[in-house]
Amino acid sequence: MRGWSERLSPTVTKIAPSGIRKFFDIAAEMDDVISLGVGEPDFVTPWTIRESCVYGLEQGYTSYTANRGLLELREEIVKKYDERYGMKYDAKTDVLVTVGVSEAMDIALRAIVAPGDEVLIPEPCYVSYNACTALAGGVPVPVPARIENEFRITPADLLAHLTPKTKALIIGYPNNPTGAIMTRDDLLKIAKFAEEHDLIVISDEIYGDLTYGDEEHVCFASLPHMKERTILLNGFSKAYAMTGWRIGYALGAPEVIAAMTKIHQYTILCSPITAQVAAVEALRRGDKYMRKMVTEYDRRRSFIYDGLTKLGLKCFEPKGAFYIFPDITSTGLTSNEFAEGLLKSEHVALVPGNAFGECGEGYVRCSYATSLDQIDEALKRIGNFIKKHSKS
Ligand code: PLP
Repeated sequence: MRGWSERLSPTVTKIAPSGIRKFFDIAAEMDDVISLGVGEPDFVTPWTIRESCVYGLEQGYTSYTANRGLLELREEIVKKYDERYGMKYDAKTDVLVTVGVSEAMDIALRAIVAPGDEVLIPEPCYVSYNACTALAGGVPVPVPARIENEFRITPADLLAHLTPKTKALIIGYPNNPTGAIMTRDDLLKIAKFAEEHDLIVISDEIYGDLTYGDEEHVCFASLPHMKERTILLNGFSKAYAMTGWRIGYALGAPEVIAAMTKIHQYTILCSPITAQVAAVEALRRGDKYMRKMVTEYDRRRSFIYDGLTKLGLKCFEPKGAFYIFPDITSTGLTSNEFAEGLLKSEHVALVPGNAFGECGEGYVRCSYATSLDQIDEALKRIGNFIKKHSKS
């Protein structure tokens, strides 16, 4: 038999494995590692949510559900968007419950991308956007965002990469890995651009509930004329500390939701009923627990921002999500050298910035979804490492 390397799909072969996972694997084999690498809340899912799942199991909720998800859950999702943003979605036609935002992103792209279509992807960004675009047969077109503009994207940035083949734009704010947000004014400009160039917008708003200070999240689809052209993605992993439940959703026009449902139907069938039952409870009674977690992330955010700044690293102060993205060029090391060196000598895991796109080179991503004590100890170790490597 010929080797597998000759037989695998070239599309898959060309895709690099996630730069986040590589560091987890090294860290997993070491003792005494402090991880600022994982993009995962350190909180356990609030008890009321877990209990609703246990109760659901006791009641015998163990079957498939409708492909689109439990109607009860879709109704709660629609209600959230109505109450929070005054948006009117129809639970029967405009919602699809998915296995996390991960699945929603994959099938949204597969539903809209024809071979060779270009998709604008502001970077640094979450690792799946490029890979899912390529897997769908599209061409990911990176659009670098700059620290000078607080990692926000402008129509001029997008215009520089627009071609007749551009079909869609993916935006992800609050942003992983930078913690950047876009204000209403910023987004209105992007909306105008999307309208002028007739682009589909996929808006990944998984961190929409995690913003700090006076910064209110602006839902992109709530802007004038944007609902019809936006596929809005959200989930439960981050806001409700439910990463392991694997549950998220997409909202959009009936036609695109129907197309996504076709893919979902044949590949997934439906999201786990256990997670769907728990998600109903999260939306009904989870917000007060979510707000407590957000308050705690905010404390950690200030602490790590001050700490890294005192160590001499230039930092953009994050406004959302639970990541900070310090510039490490003052050490003279590349992102990979910094991350690998820090892990090996000080046992602190974080992620090199170039895992999130080429323009992330010179940065590292630290997640502050971990306890203040751990962050404090990590800062001391990062300080030791920087001393050893400072250029002077
Ligand atoms: N989108 C962003 C921006 C993320 O950071 C993540 C996870 O880290 C995901 C999507 C995937 O989320 P889920 O657990 O809902 O699949």
